[in-house]
Amino acid sequence: MGGAKRNPPDNKRWVTLRSTHPTRHMKTVSFSKNSTNIFFHILTNCNLRCQHCYINPEQHGKNTLPLSTIESWLEAFVGKSDTANVIFLGGEPTLHPDLSSAVKCAKRLGYSSVTIDTNGYLFHDILSKTEPDDIDYLSFSLDGATRQTNDRIRGEGSYDICTAGIREAVSRGFSTSLIYTVSRTNIRELEQMGPLLKDLGIRRFFIQVIGIRGKSASIGEKLQLSKEEWLRAIPKVAGKVAELGITVTYPKVFLDSEEPFECAGLVADNYFIFPNGRVYQCPLCEDFPIHSLRFEGDRLVRTGKINERDLFTLSIPEGCVMNKLIQPDNLEYKDNGAAAYKIACCLLKEEIR
Ligand code: SF4
Ligand code: SF4
Repeated sequence: MGGAKRNPPDNKRWVTLRSTHPTRHMKTVSFSKNSTNIFFHILTNCNLRCQHCYINPEQHGKNTLPLSTIESWLEAFVGKSDTANVIFLGGEPTLHPDLSSAVKCAKRLGYSSVTIDTNGYLFHDILSKTEPDDIDYLSFSLDGATRQTNDRIRGEGSYDICTAGIREAVSRGFSTSLIYTVSRTNIRELEQMGPLLKDLGIRRFFIQVIGIRGKSASIGEKLQLSKEEWLRAIPKVAGKVAELGITVTYPKVFLDSEEPFECAGLVADNYFIFPNGRVYQCPLCEDFPIHSLRFEGDRLVRTGKINERDLFTLSIPEGCVMNKLIQPDNLEYKDNGAAAYKIACCLLKEEIR
């Protein structure tokens, strides 16, 4: 699994806000109000120890969910809106011996799309136990265009295994996407990703911003890009990759003061489920016991005050409240004390086709 990921599935209801190129369609992806997206961490165990891993077993649990629990928790979200999409995550979800059954269960229950986010090790022979029709996207995480950079972040040998896993999946007819979590450590190689993605047969490319959470928070050096660095590099690379016929998605991150701000926690139906039963509506809240829902057995119940929903309603000039609370270093202020820009909801994406 990646370090700072969880991308919304492809959704036909996304709204095109602008087009900047006659053959390249760029849009800000509005929050989908008619679909439910569940980001289902079925375990937190992983074979890798990536530098930027956000998994926090103290807050998320150390257990592996039994298949029967996965099935009943999947059932709890079906029918909440017109469509439901599930992304299976971990830890490394392919370490779960029943992942293939969980995928089939999601399809049987009527989930419109099923995605598996994987670090590429593809345990338990998952490619043989599922069919390309069962899985809309197998989403691989790679954090460098070269073996050296990726393995520095994700661990020795992970580049070779991940790229071999992608080739194997593509050769068997699976649709694949790739997540690249950008930081100061690997930004210089982002531009080299286009040819590699093309060579691997990747259909969608997700550029992700590194979150100062989990292990990243304990690394002394500053990993996040500044606004200038982000805007200088990301849209340009995204455009070039899109010209290769690969759909590119990246977080909006920065909003000018006149651009509208929306908190997905208030307007969208996203649920981040952990094996200890906590269910969050905001990924930035996941390191704190402020989840708005929890499973009691098979029953989904609301938690009492104070929880993340109490934060969603606060309106501040800096945009996202949770960003200001947990990573205020990415904010800037003018001489008169006014916010220089707003931080968008971390779930707001730009997409170039
Ligand atoms: S692959 Fe494993 S260690 Fe790496 S980010 Fe994902 S869960 Fe964390
Ligand atoms: S990241 Fe910020 S804006 Fe988005 S859901 Fe969380 S609190 Fe709301």
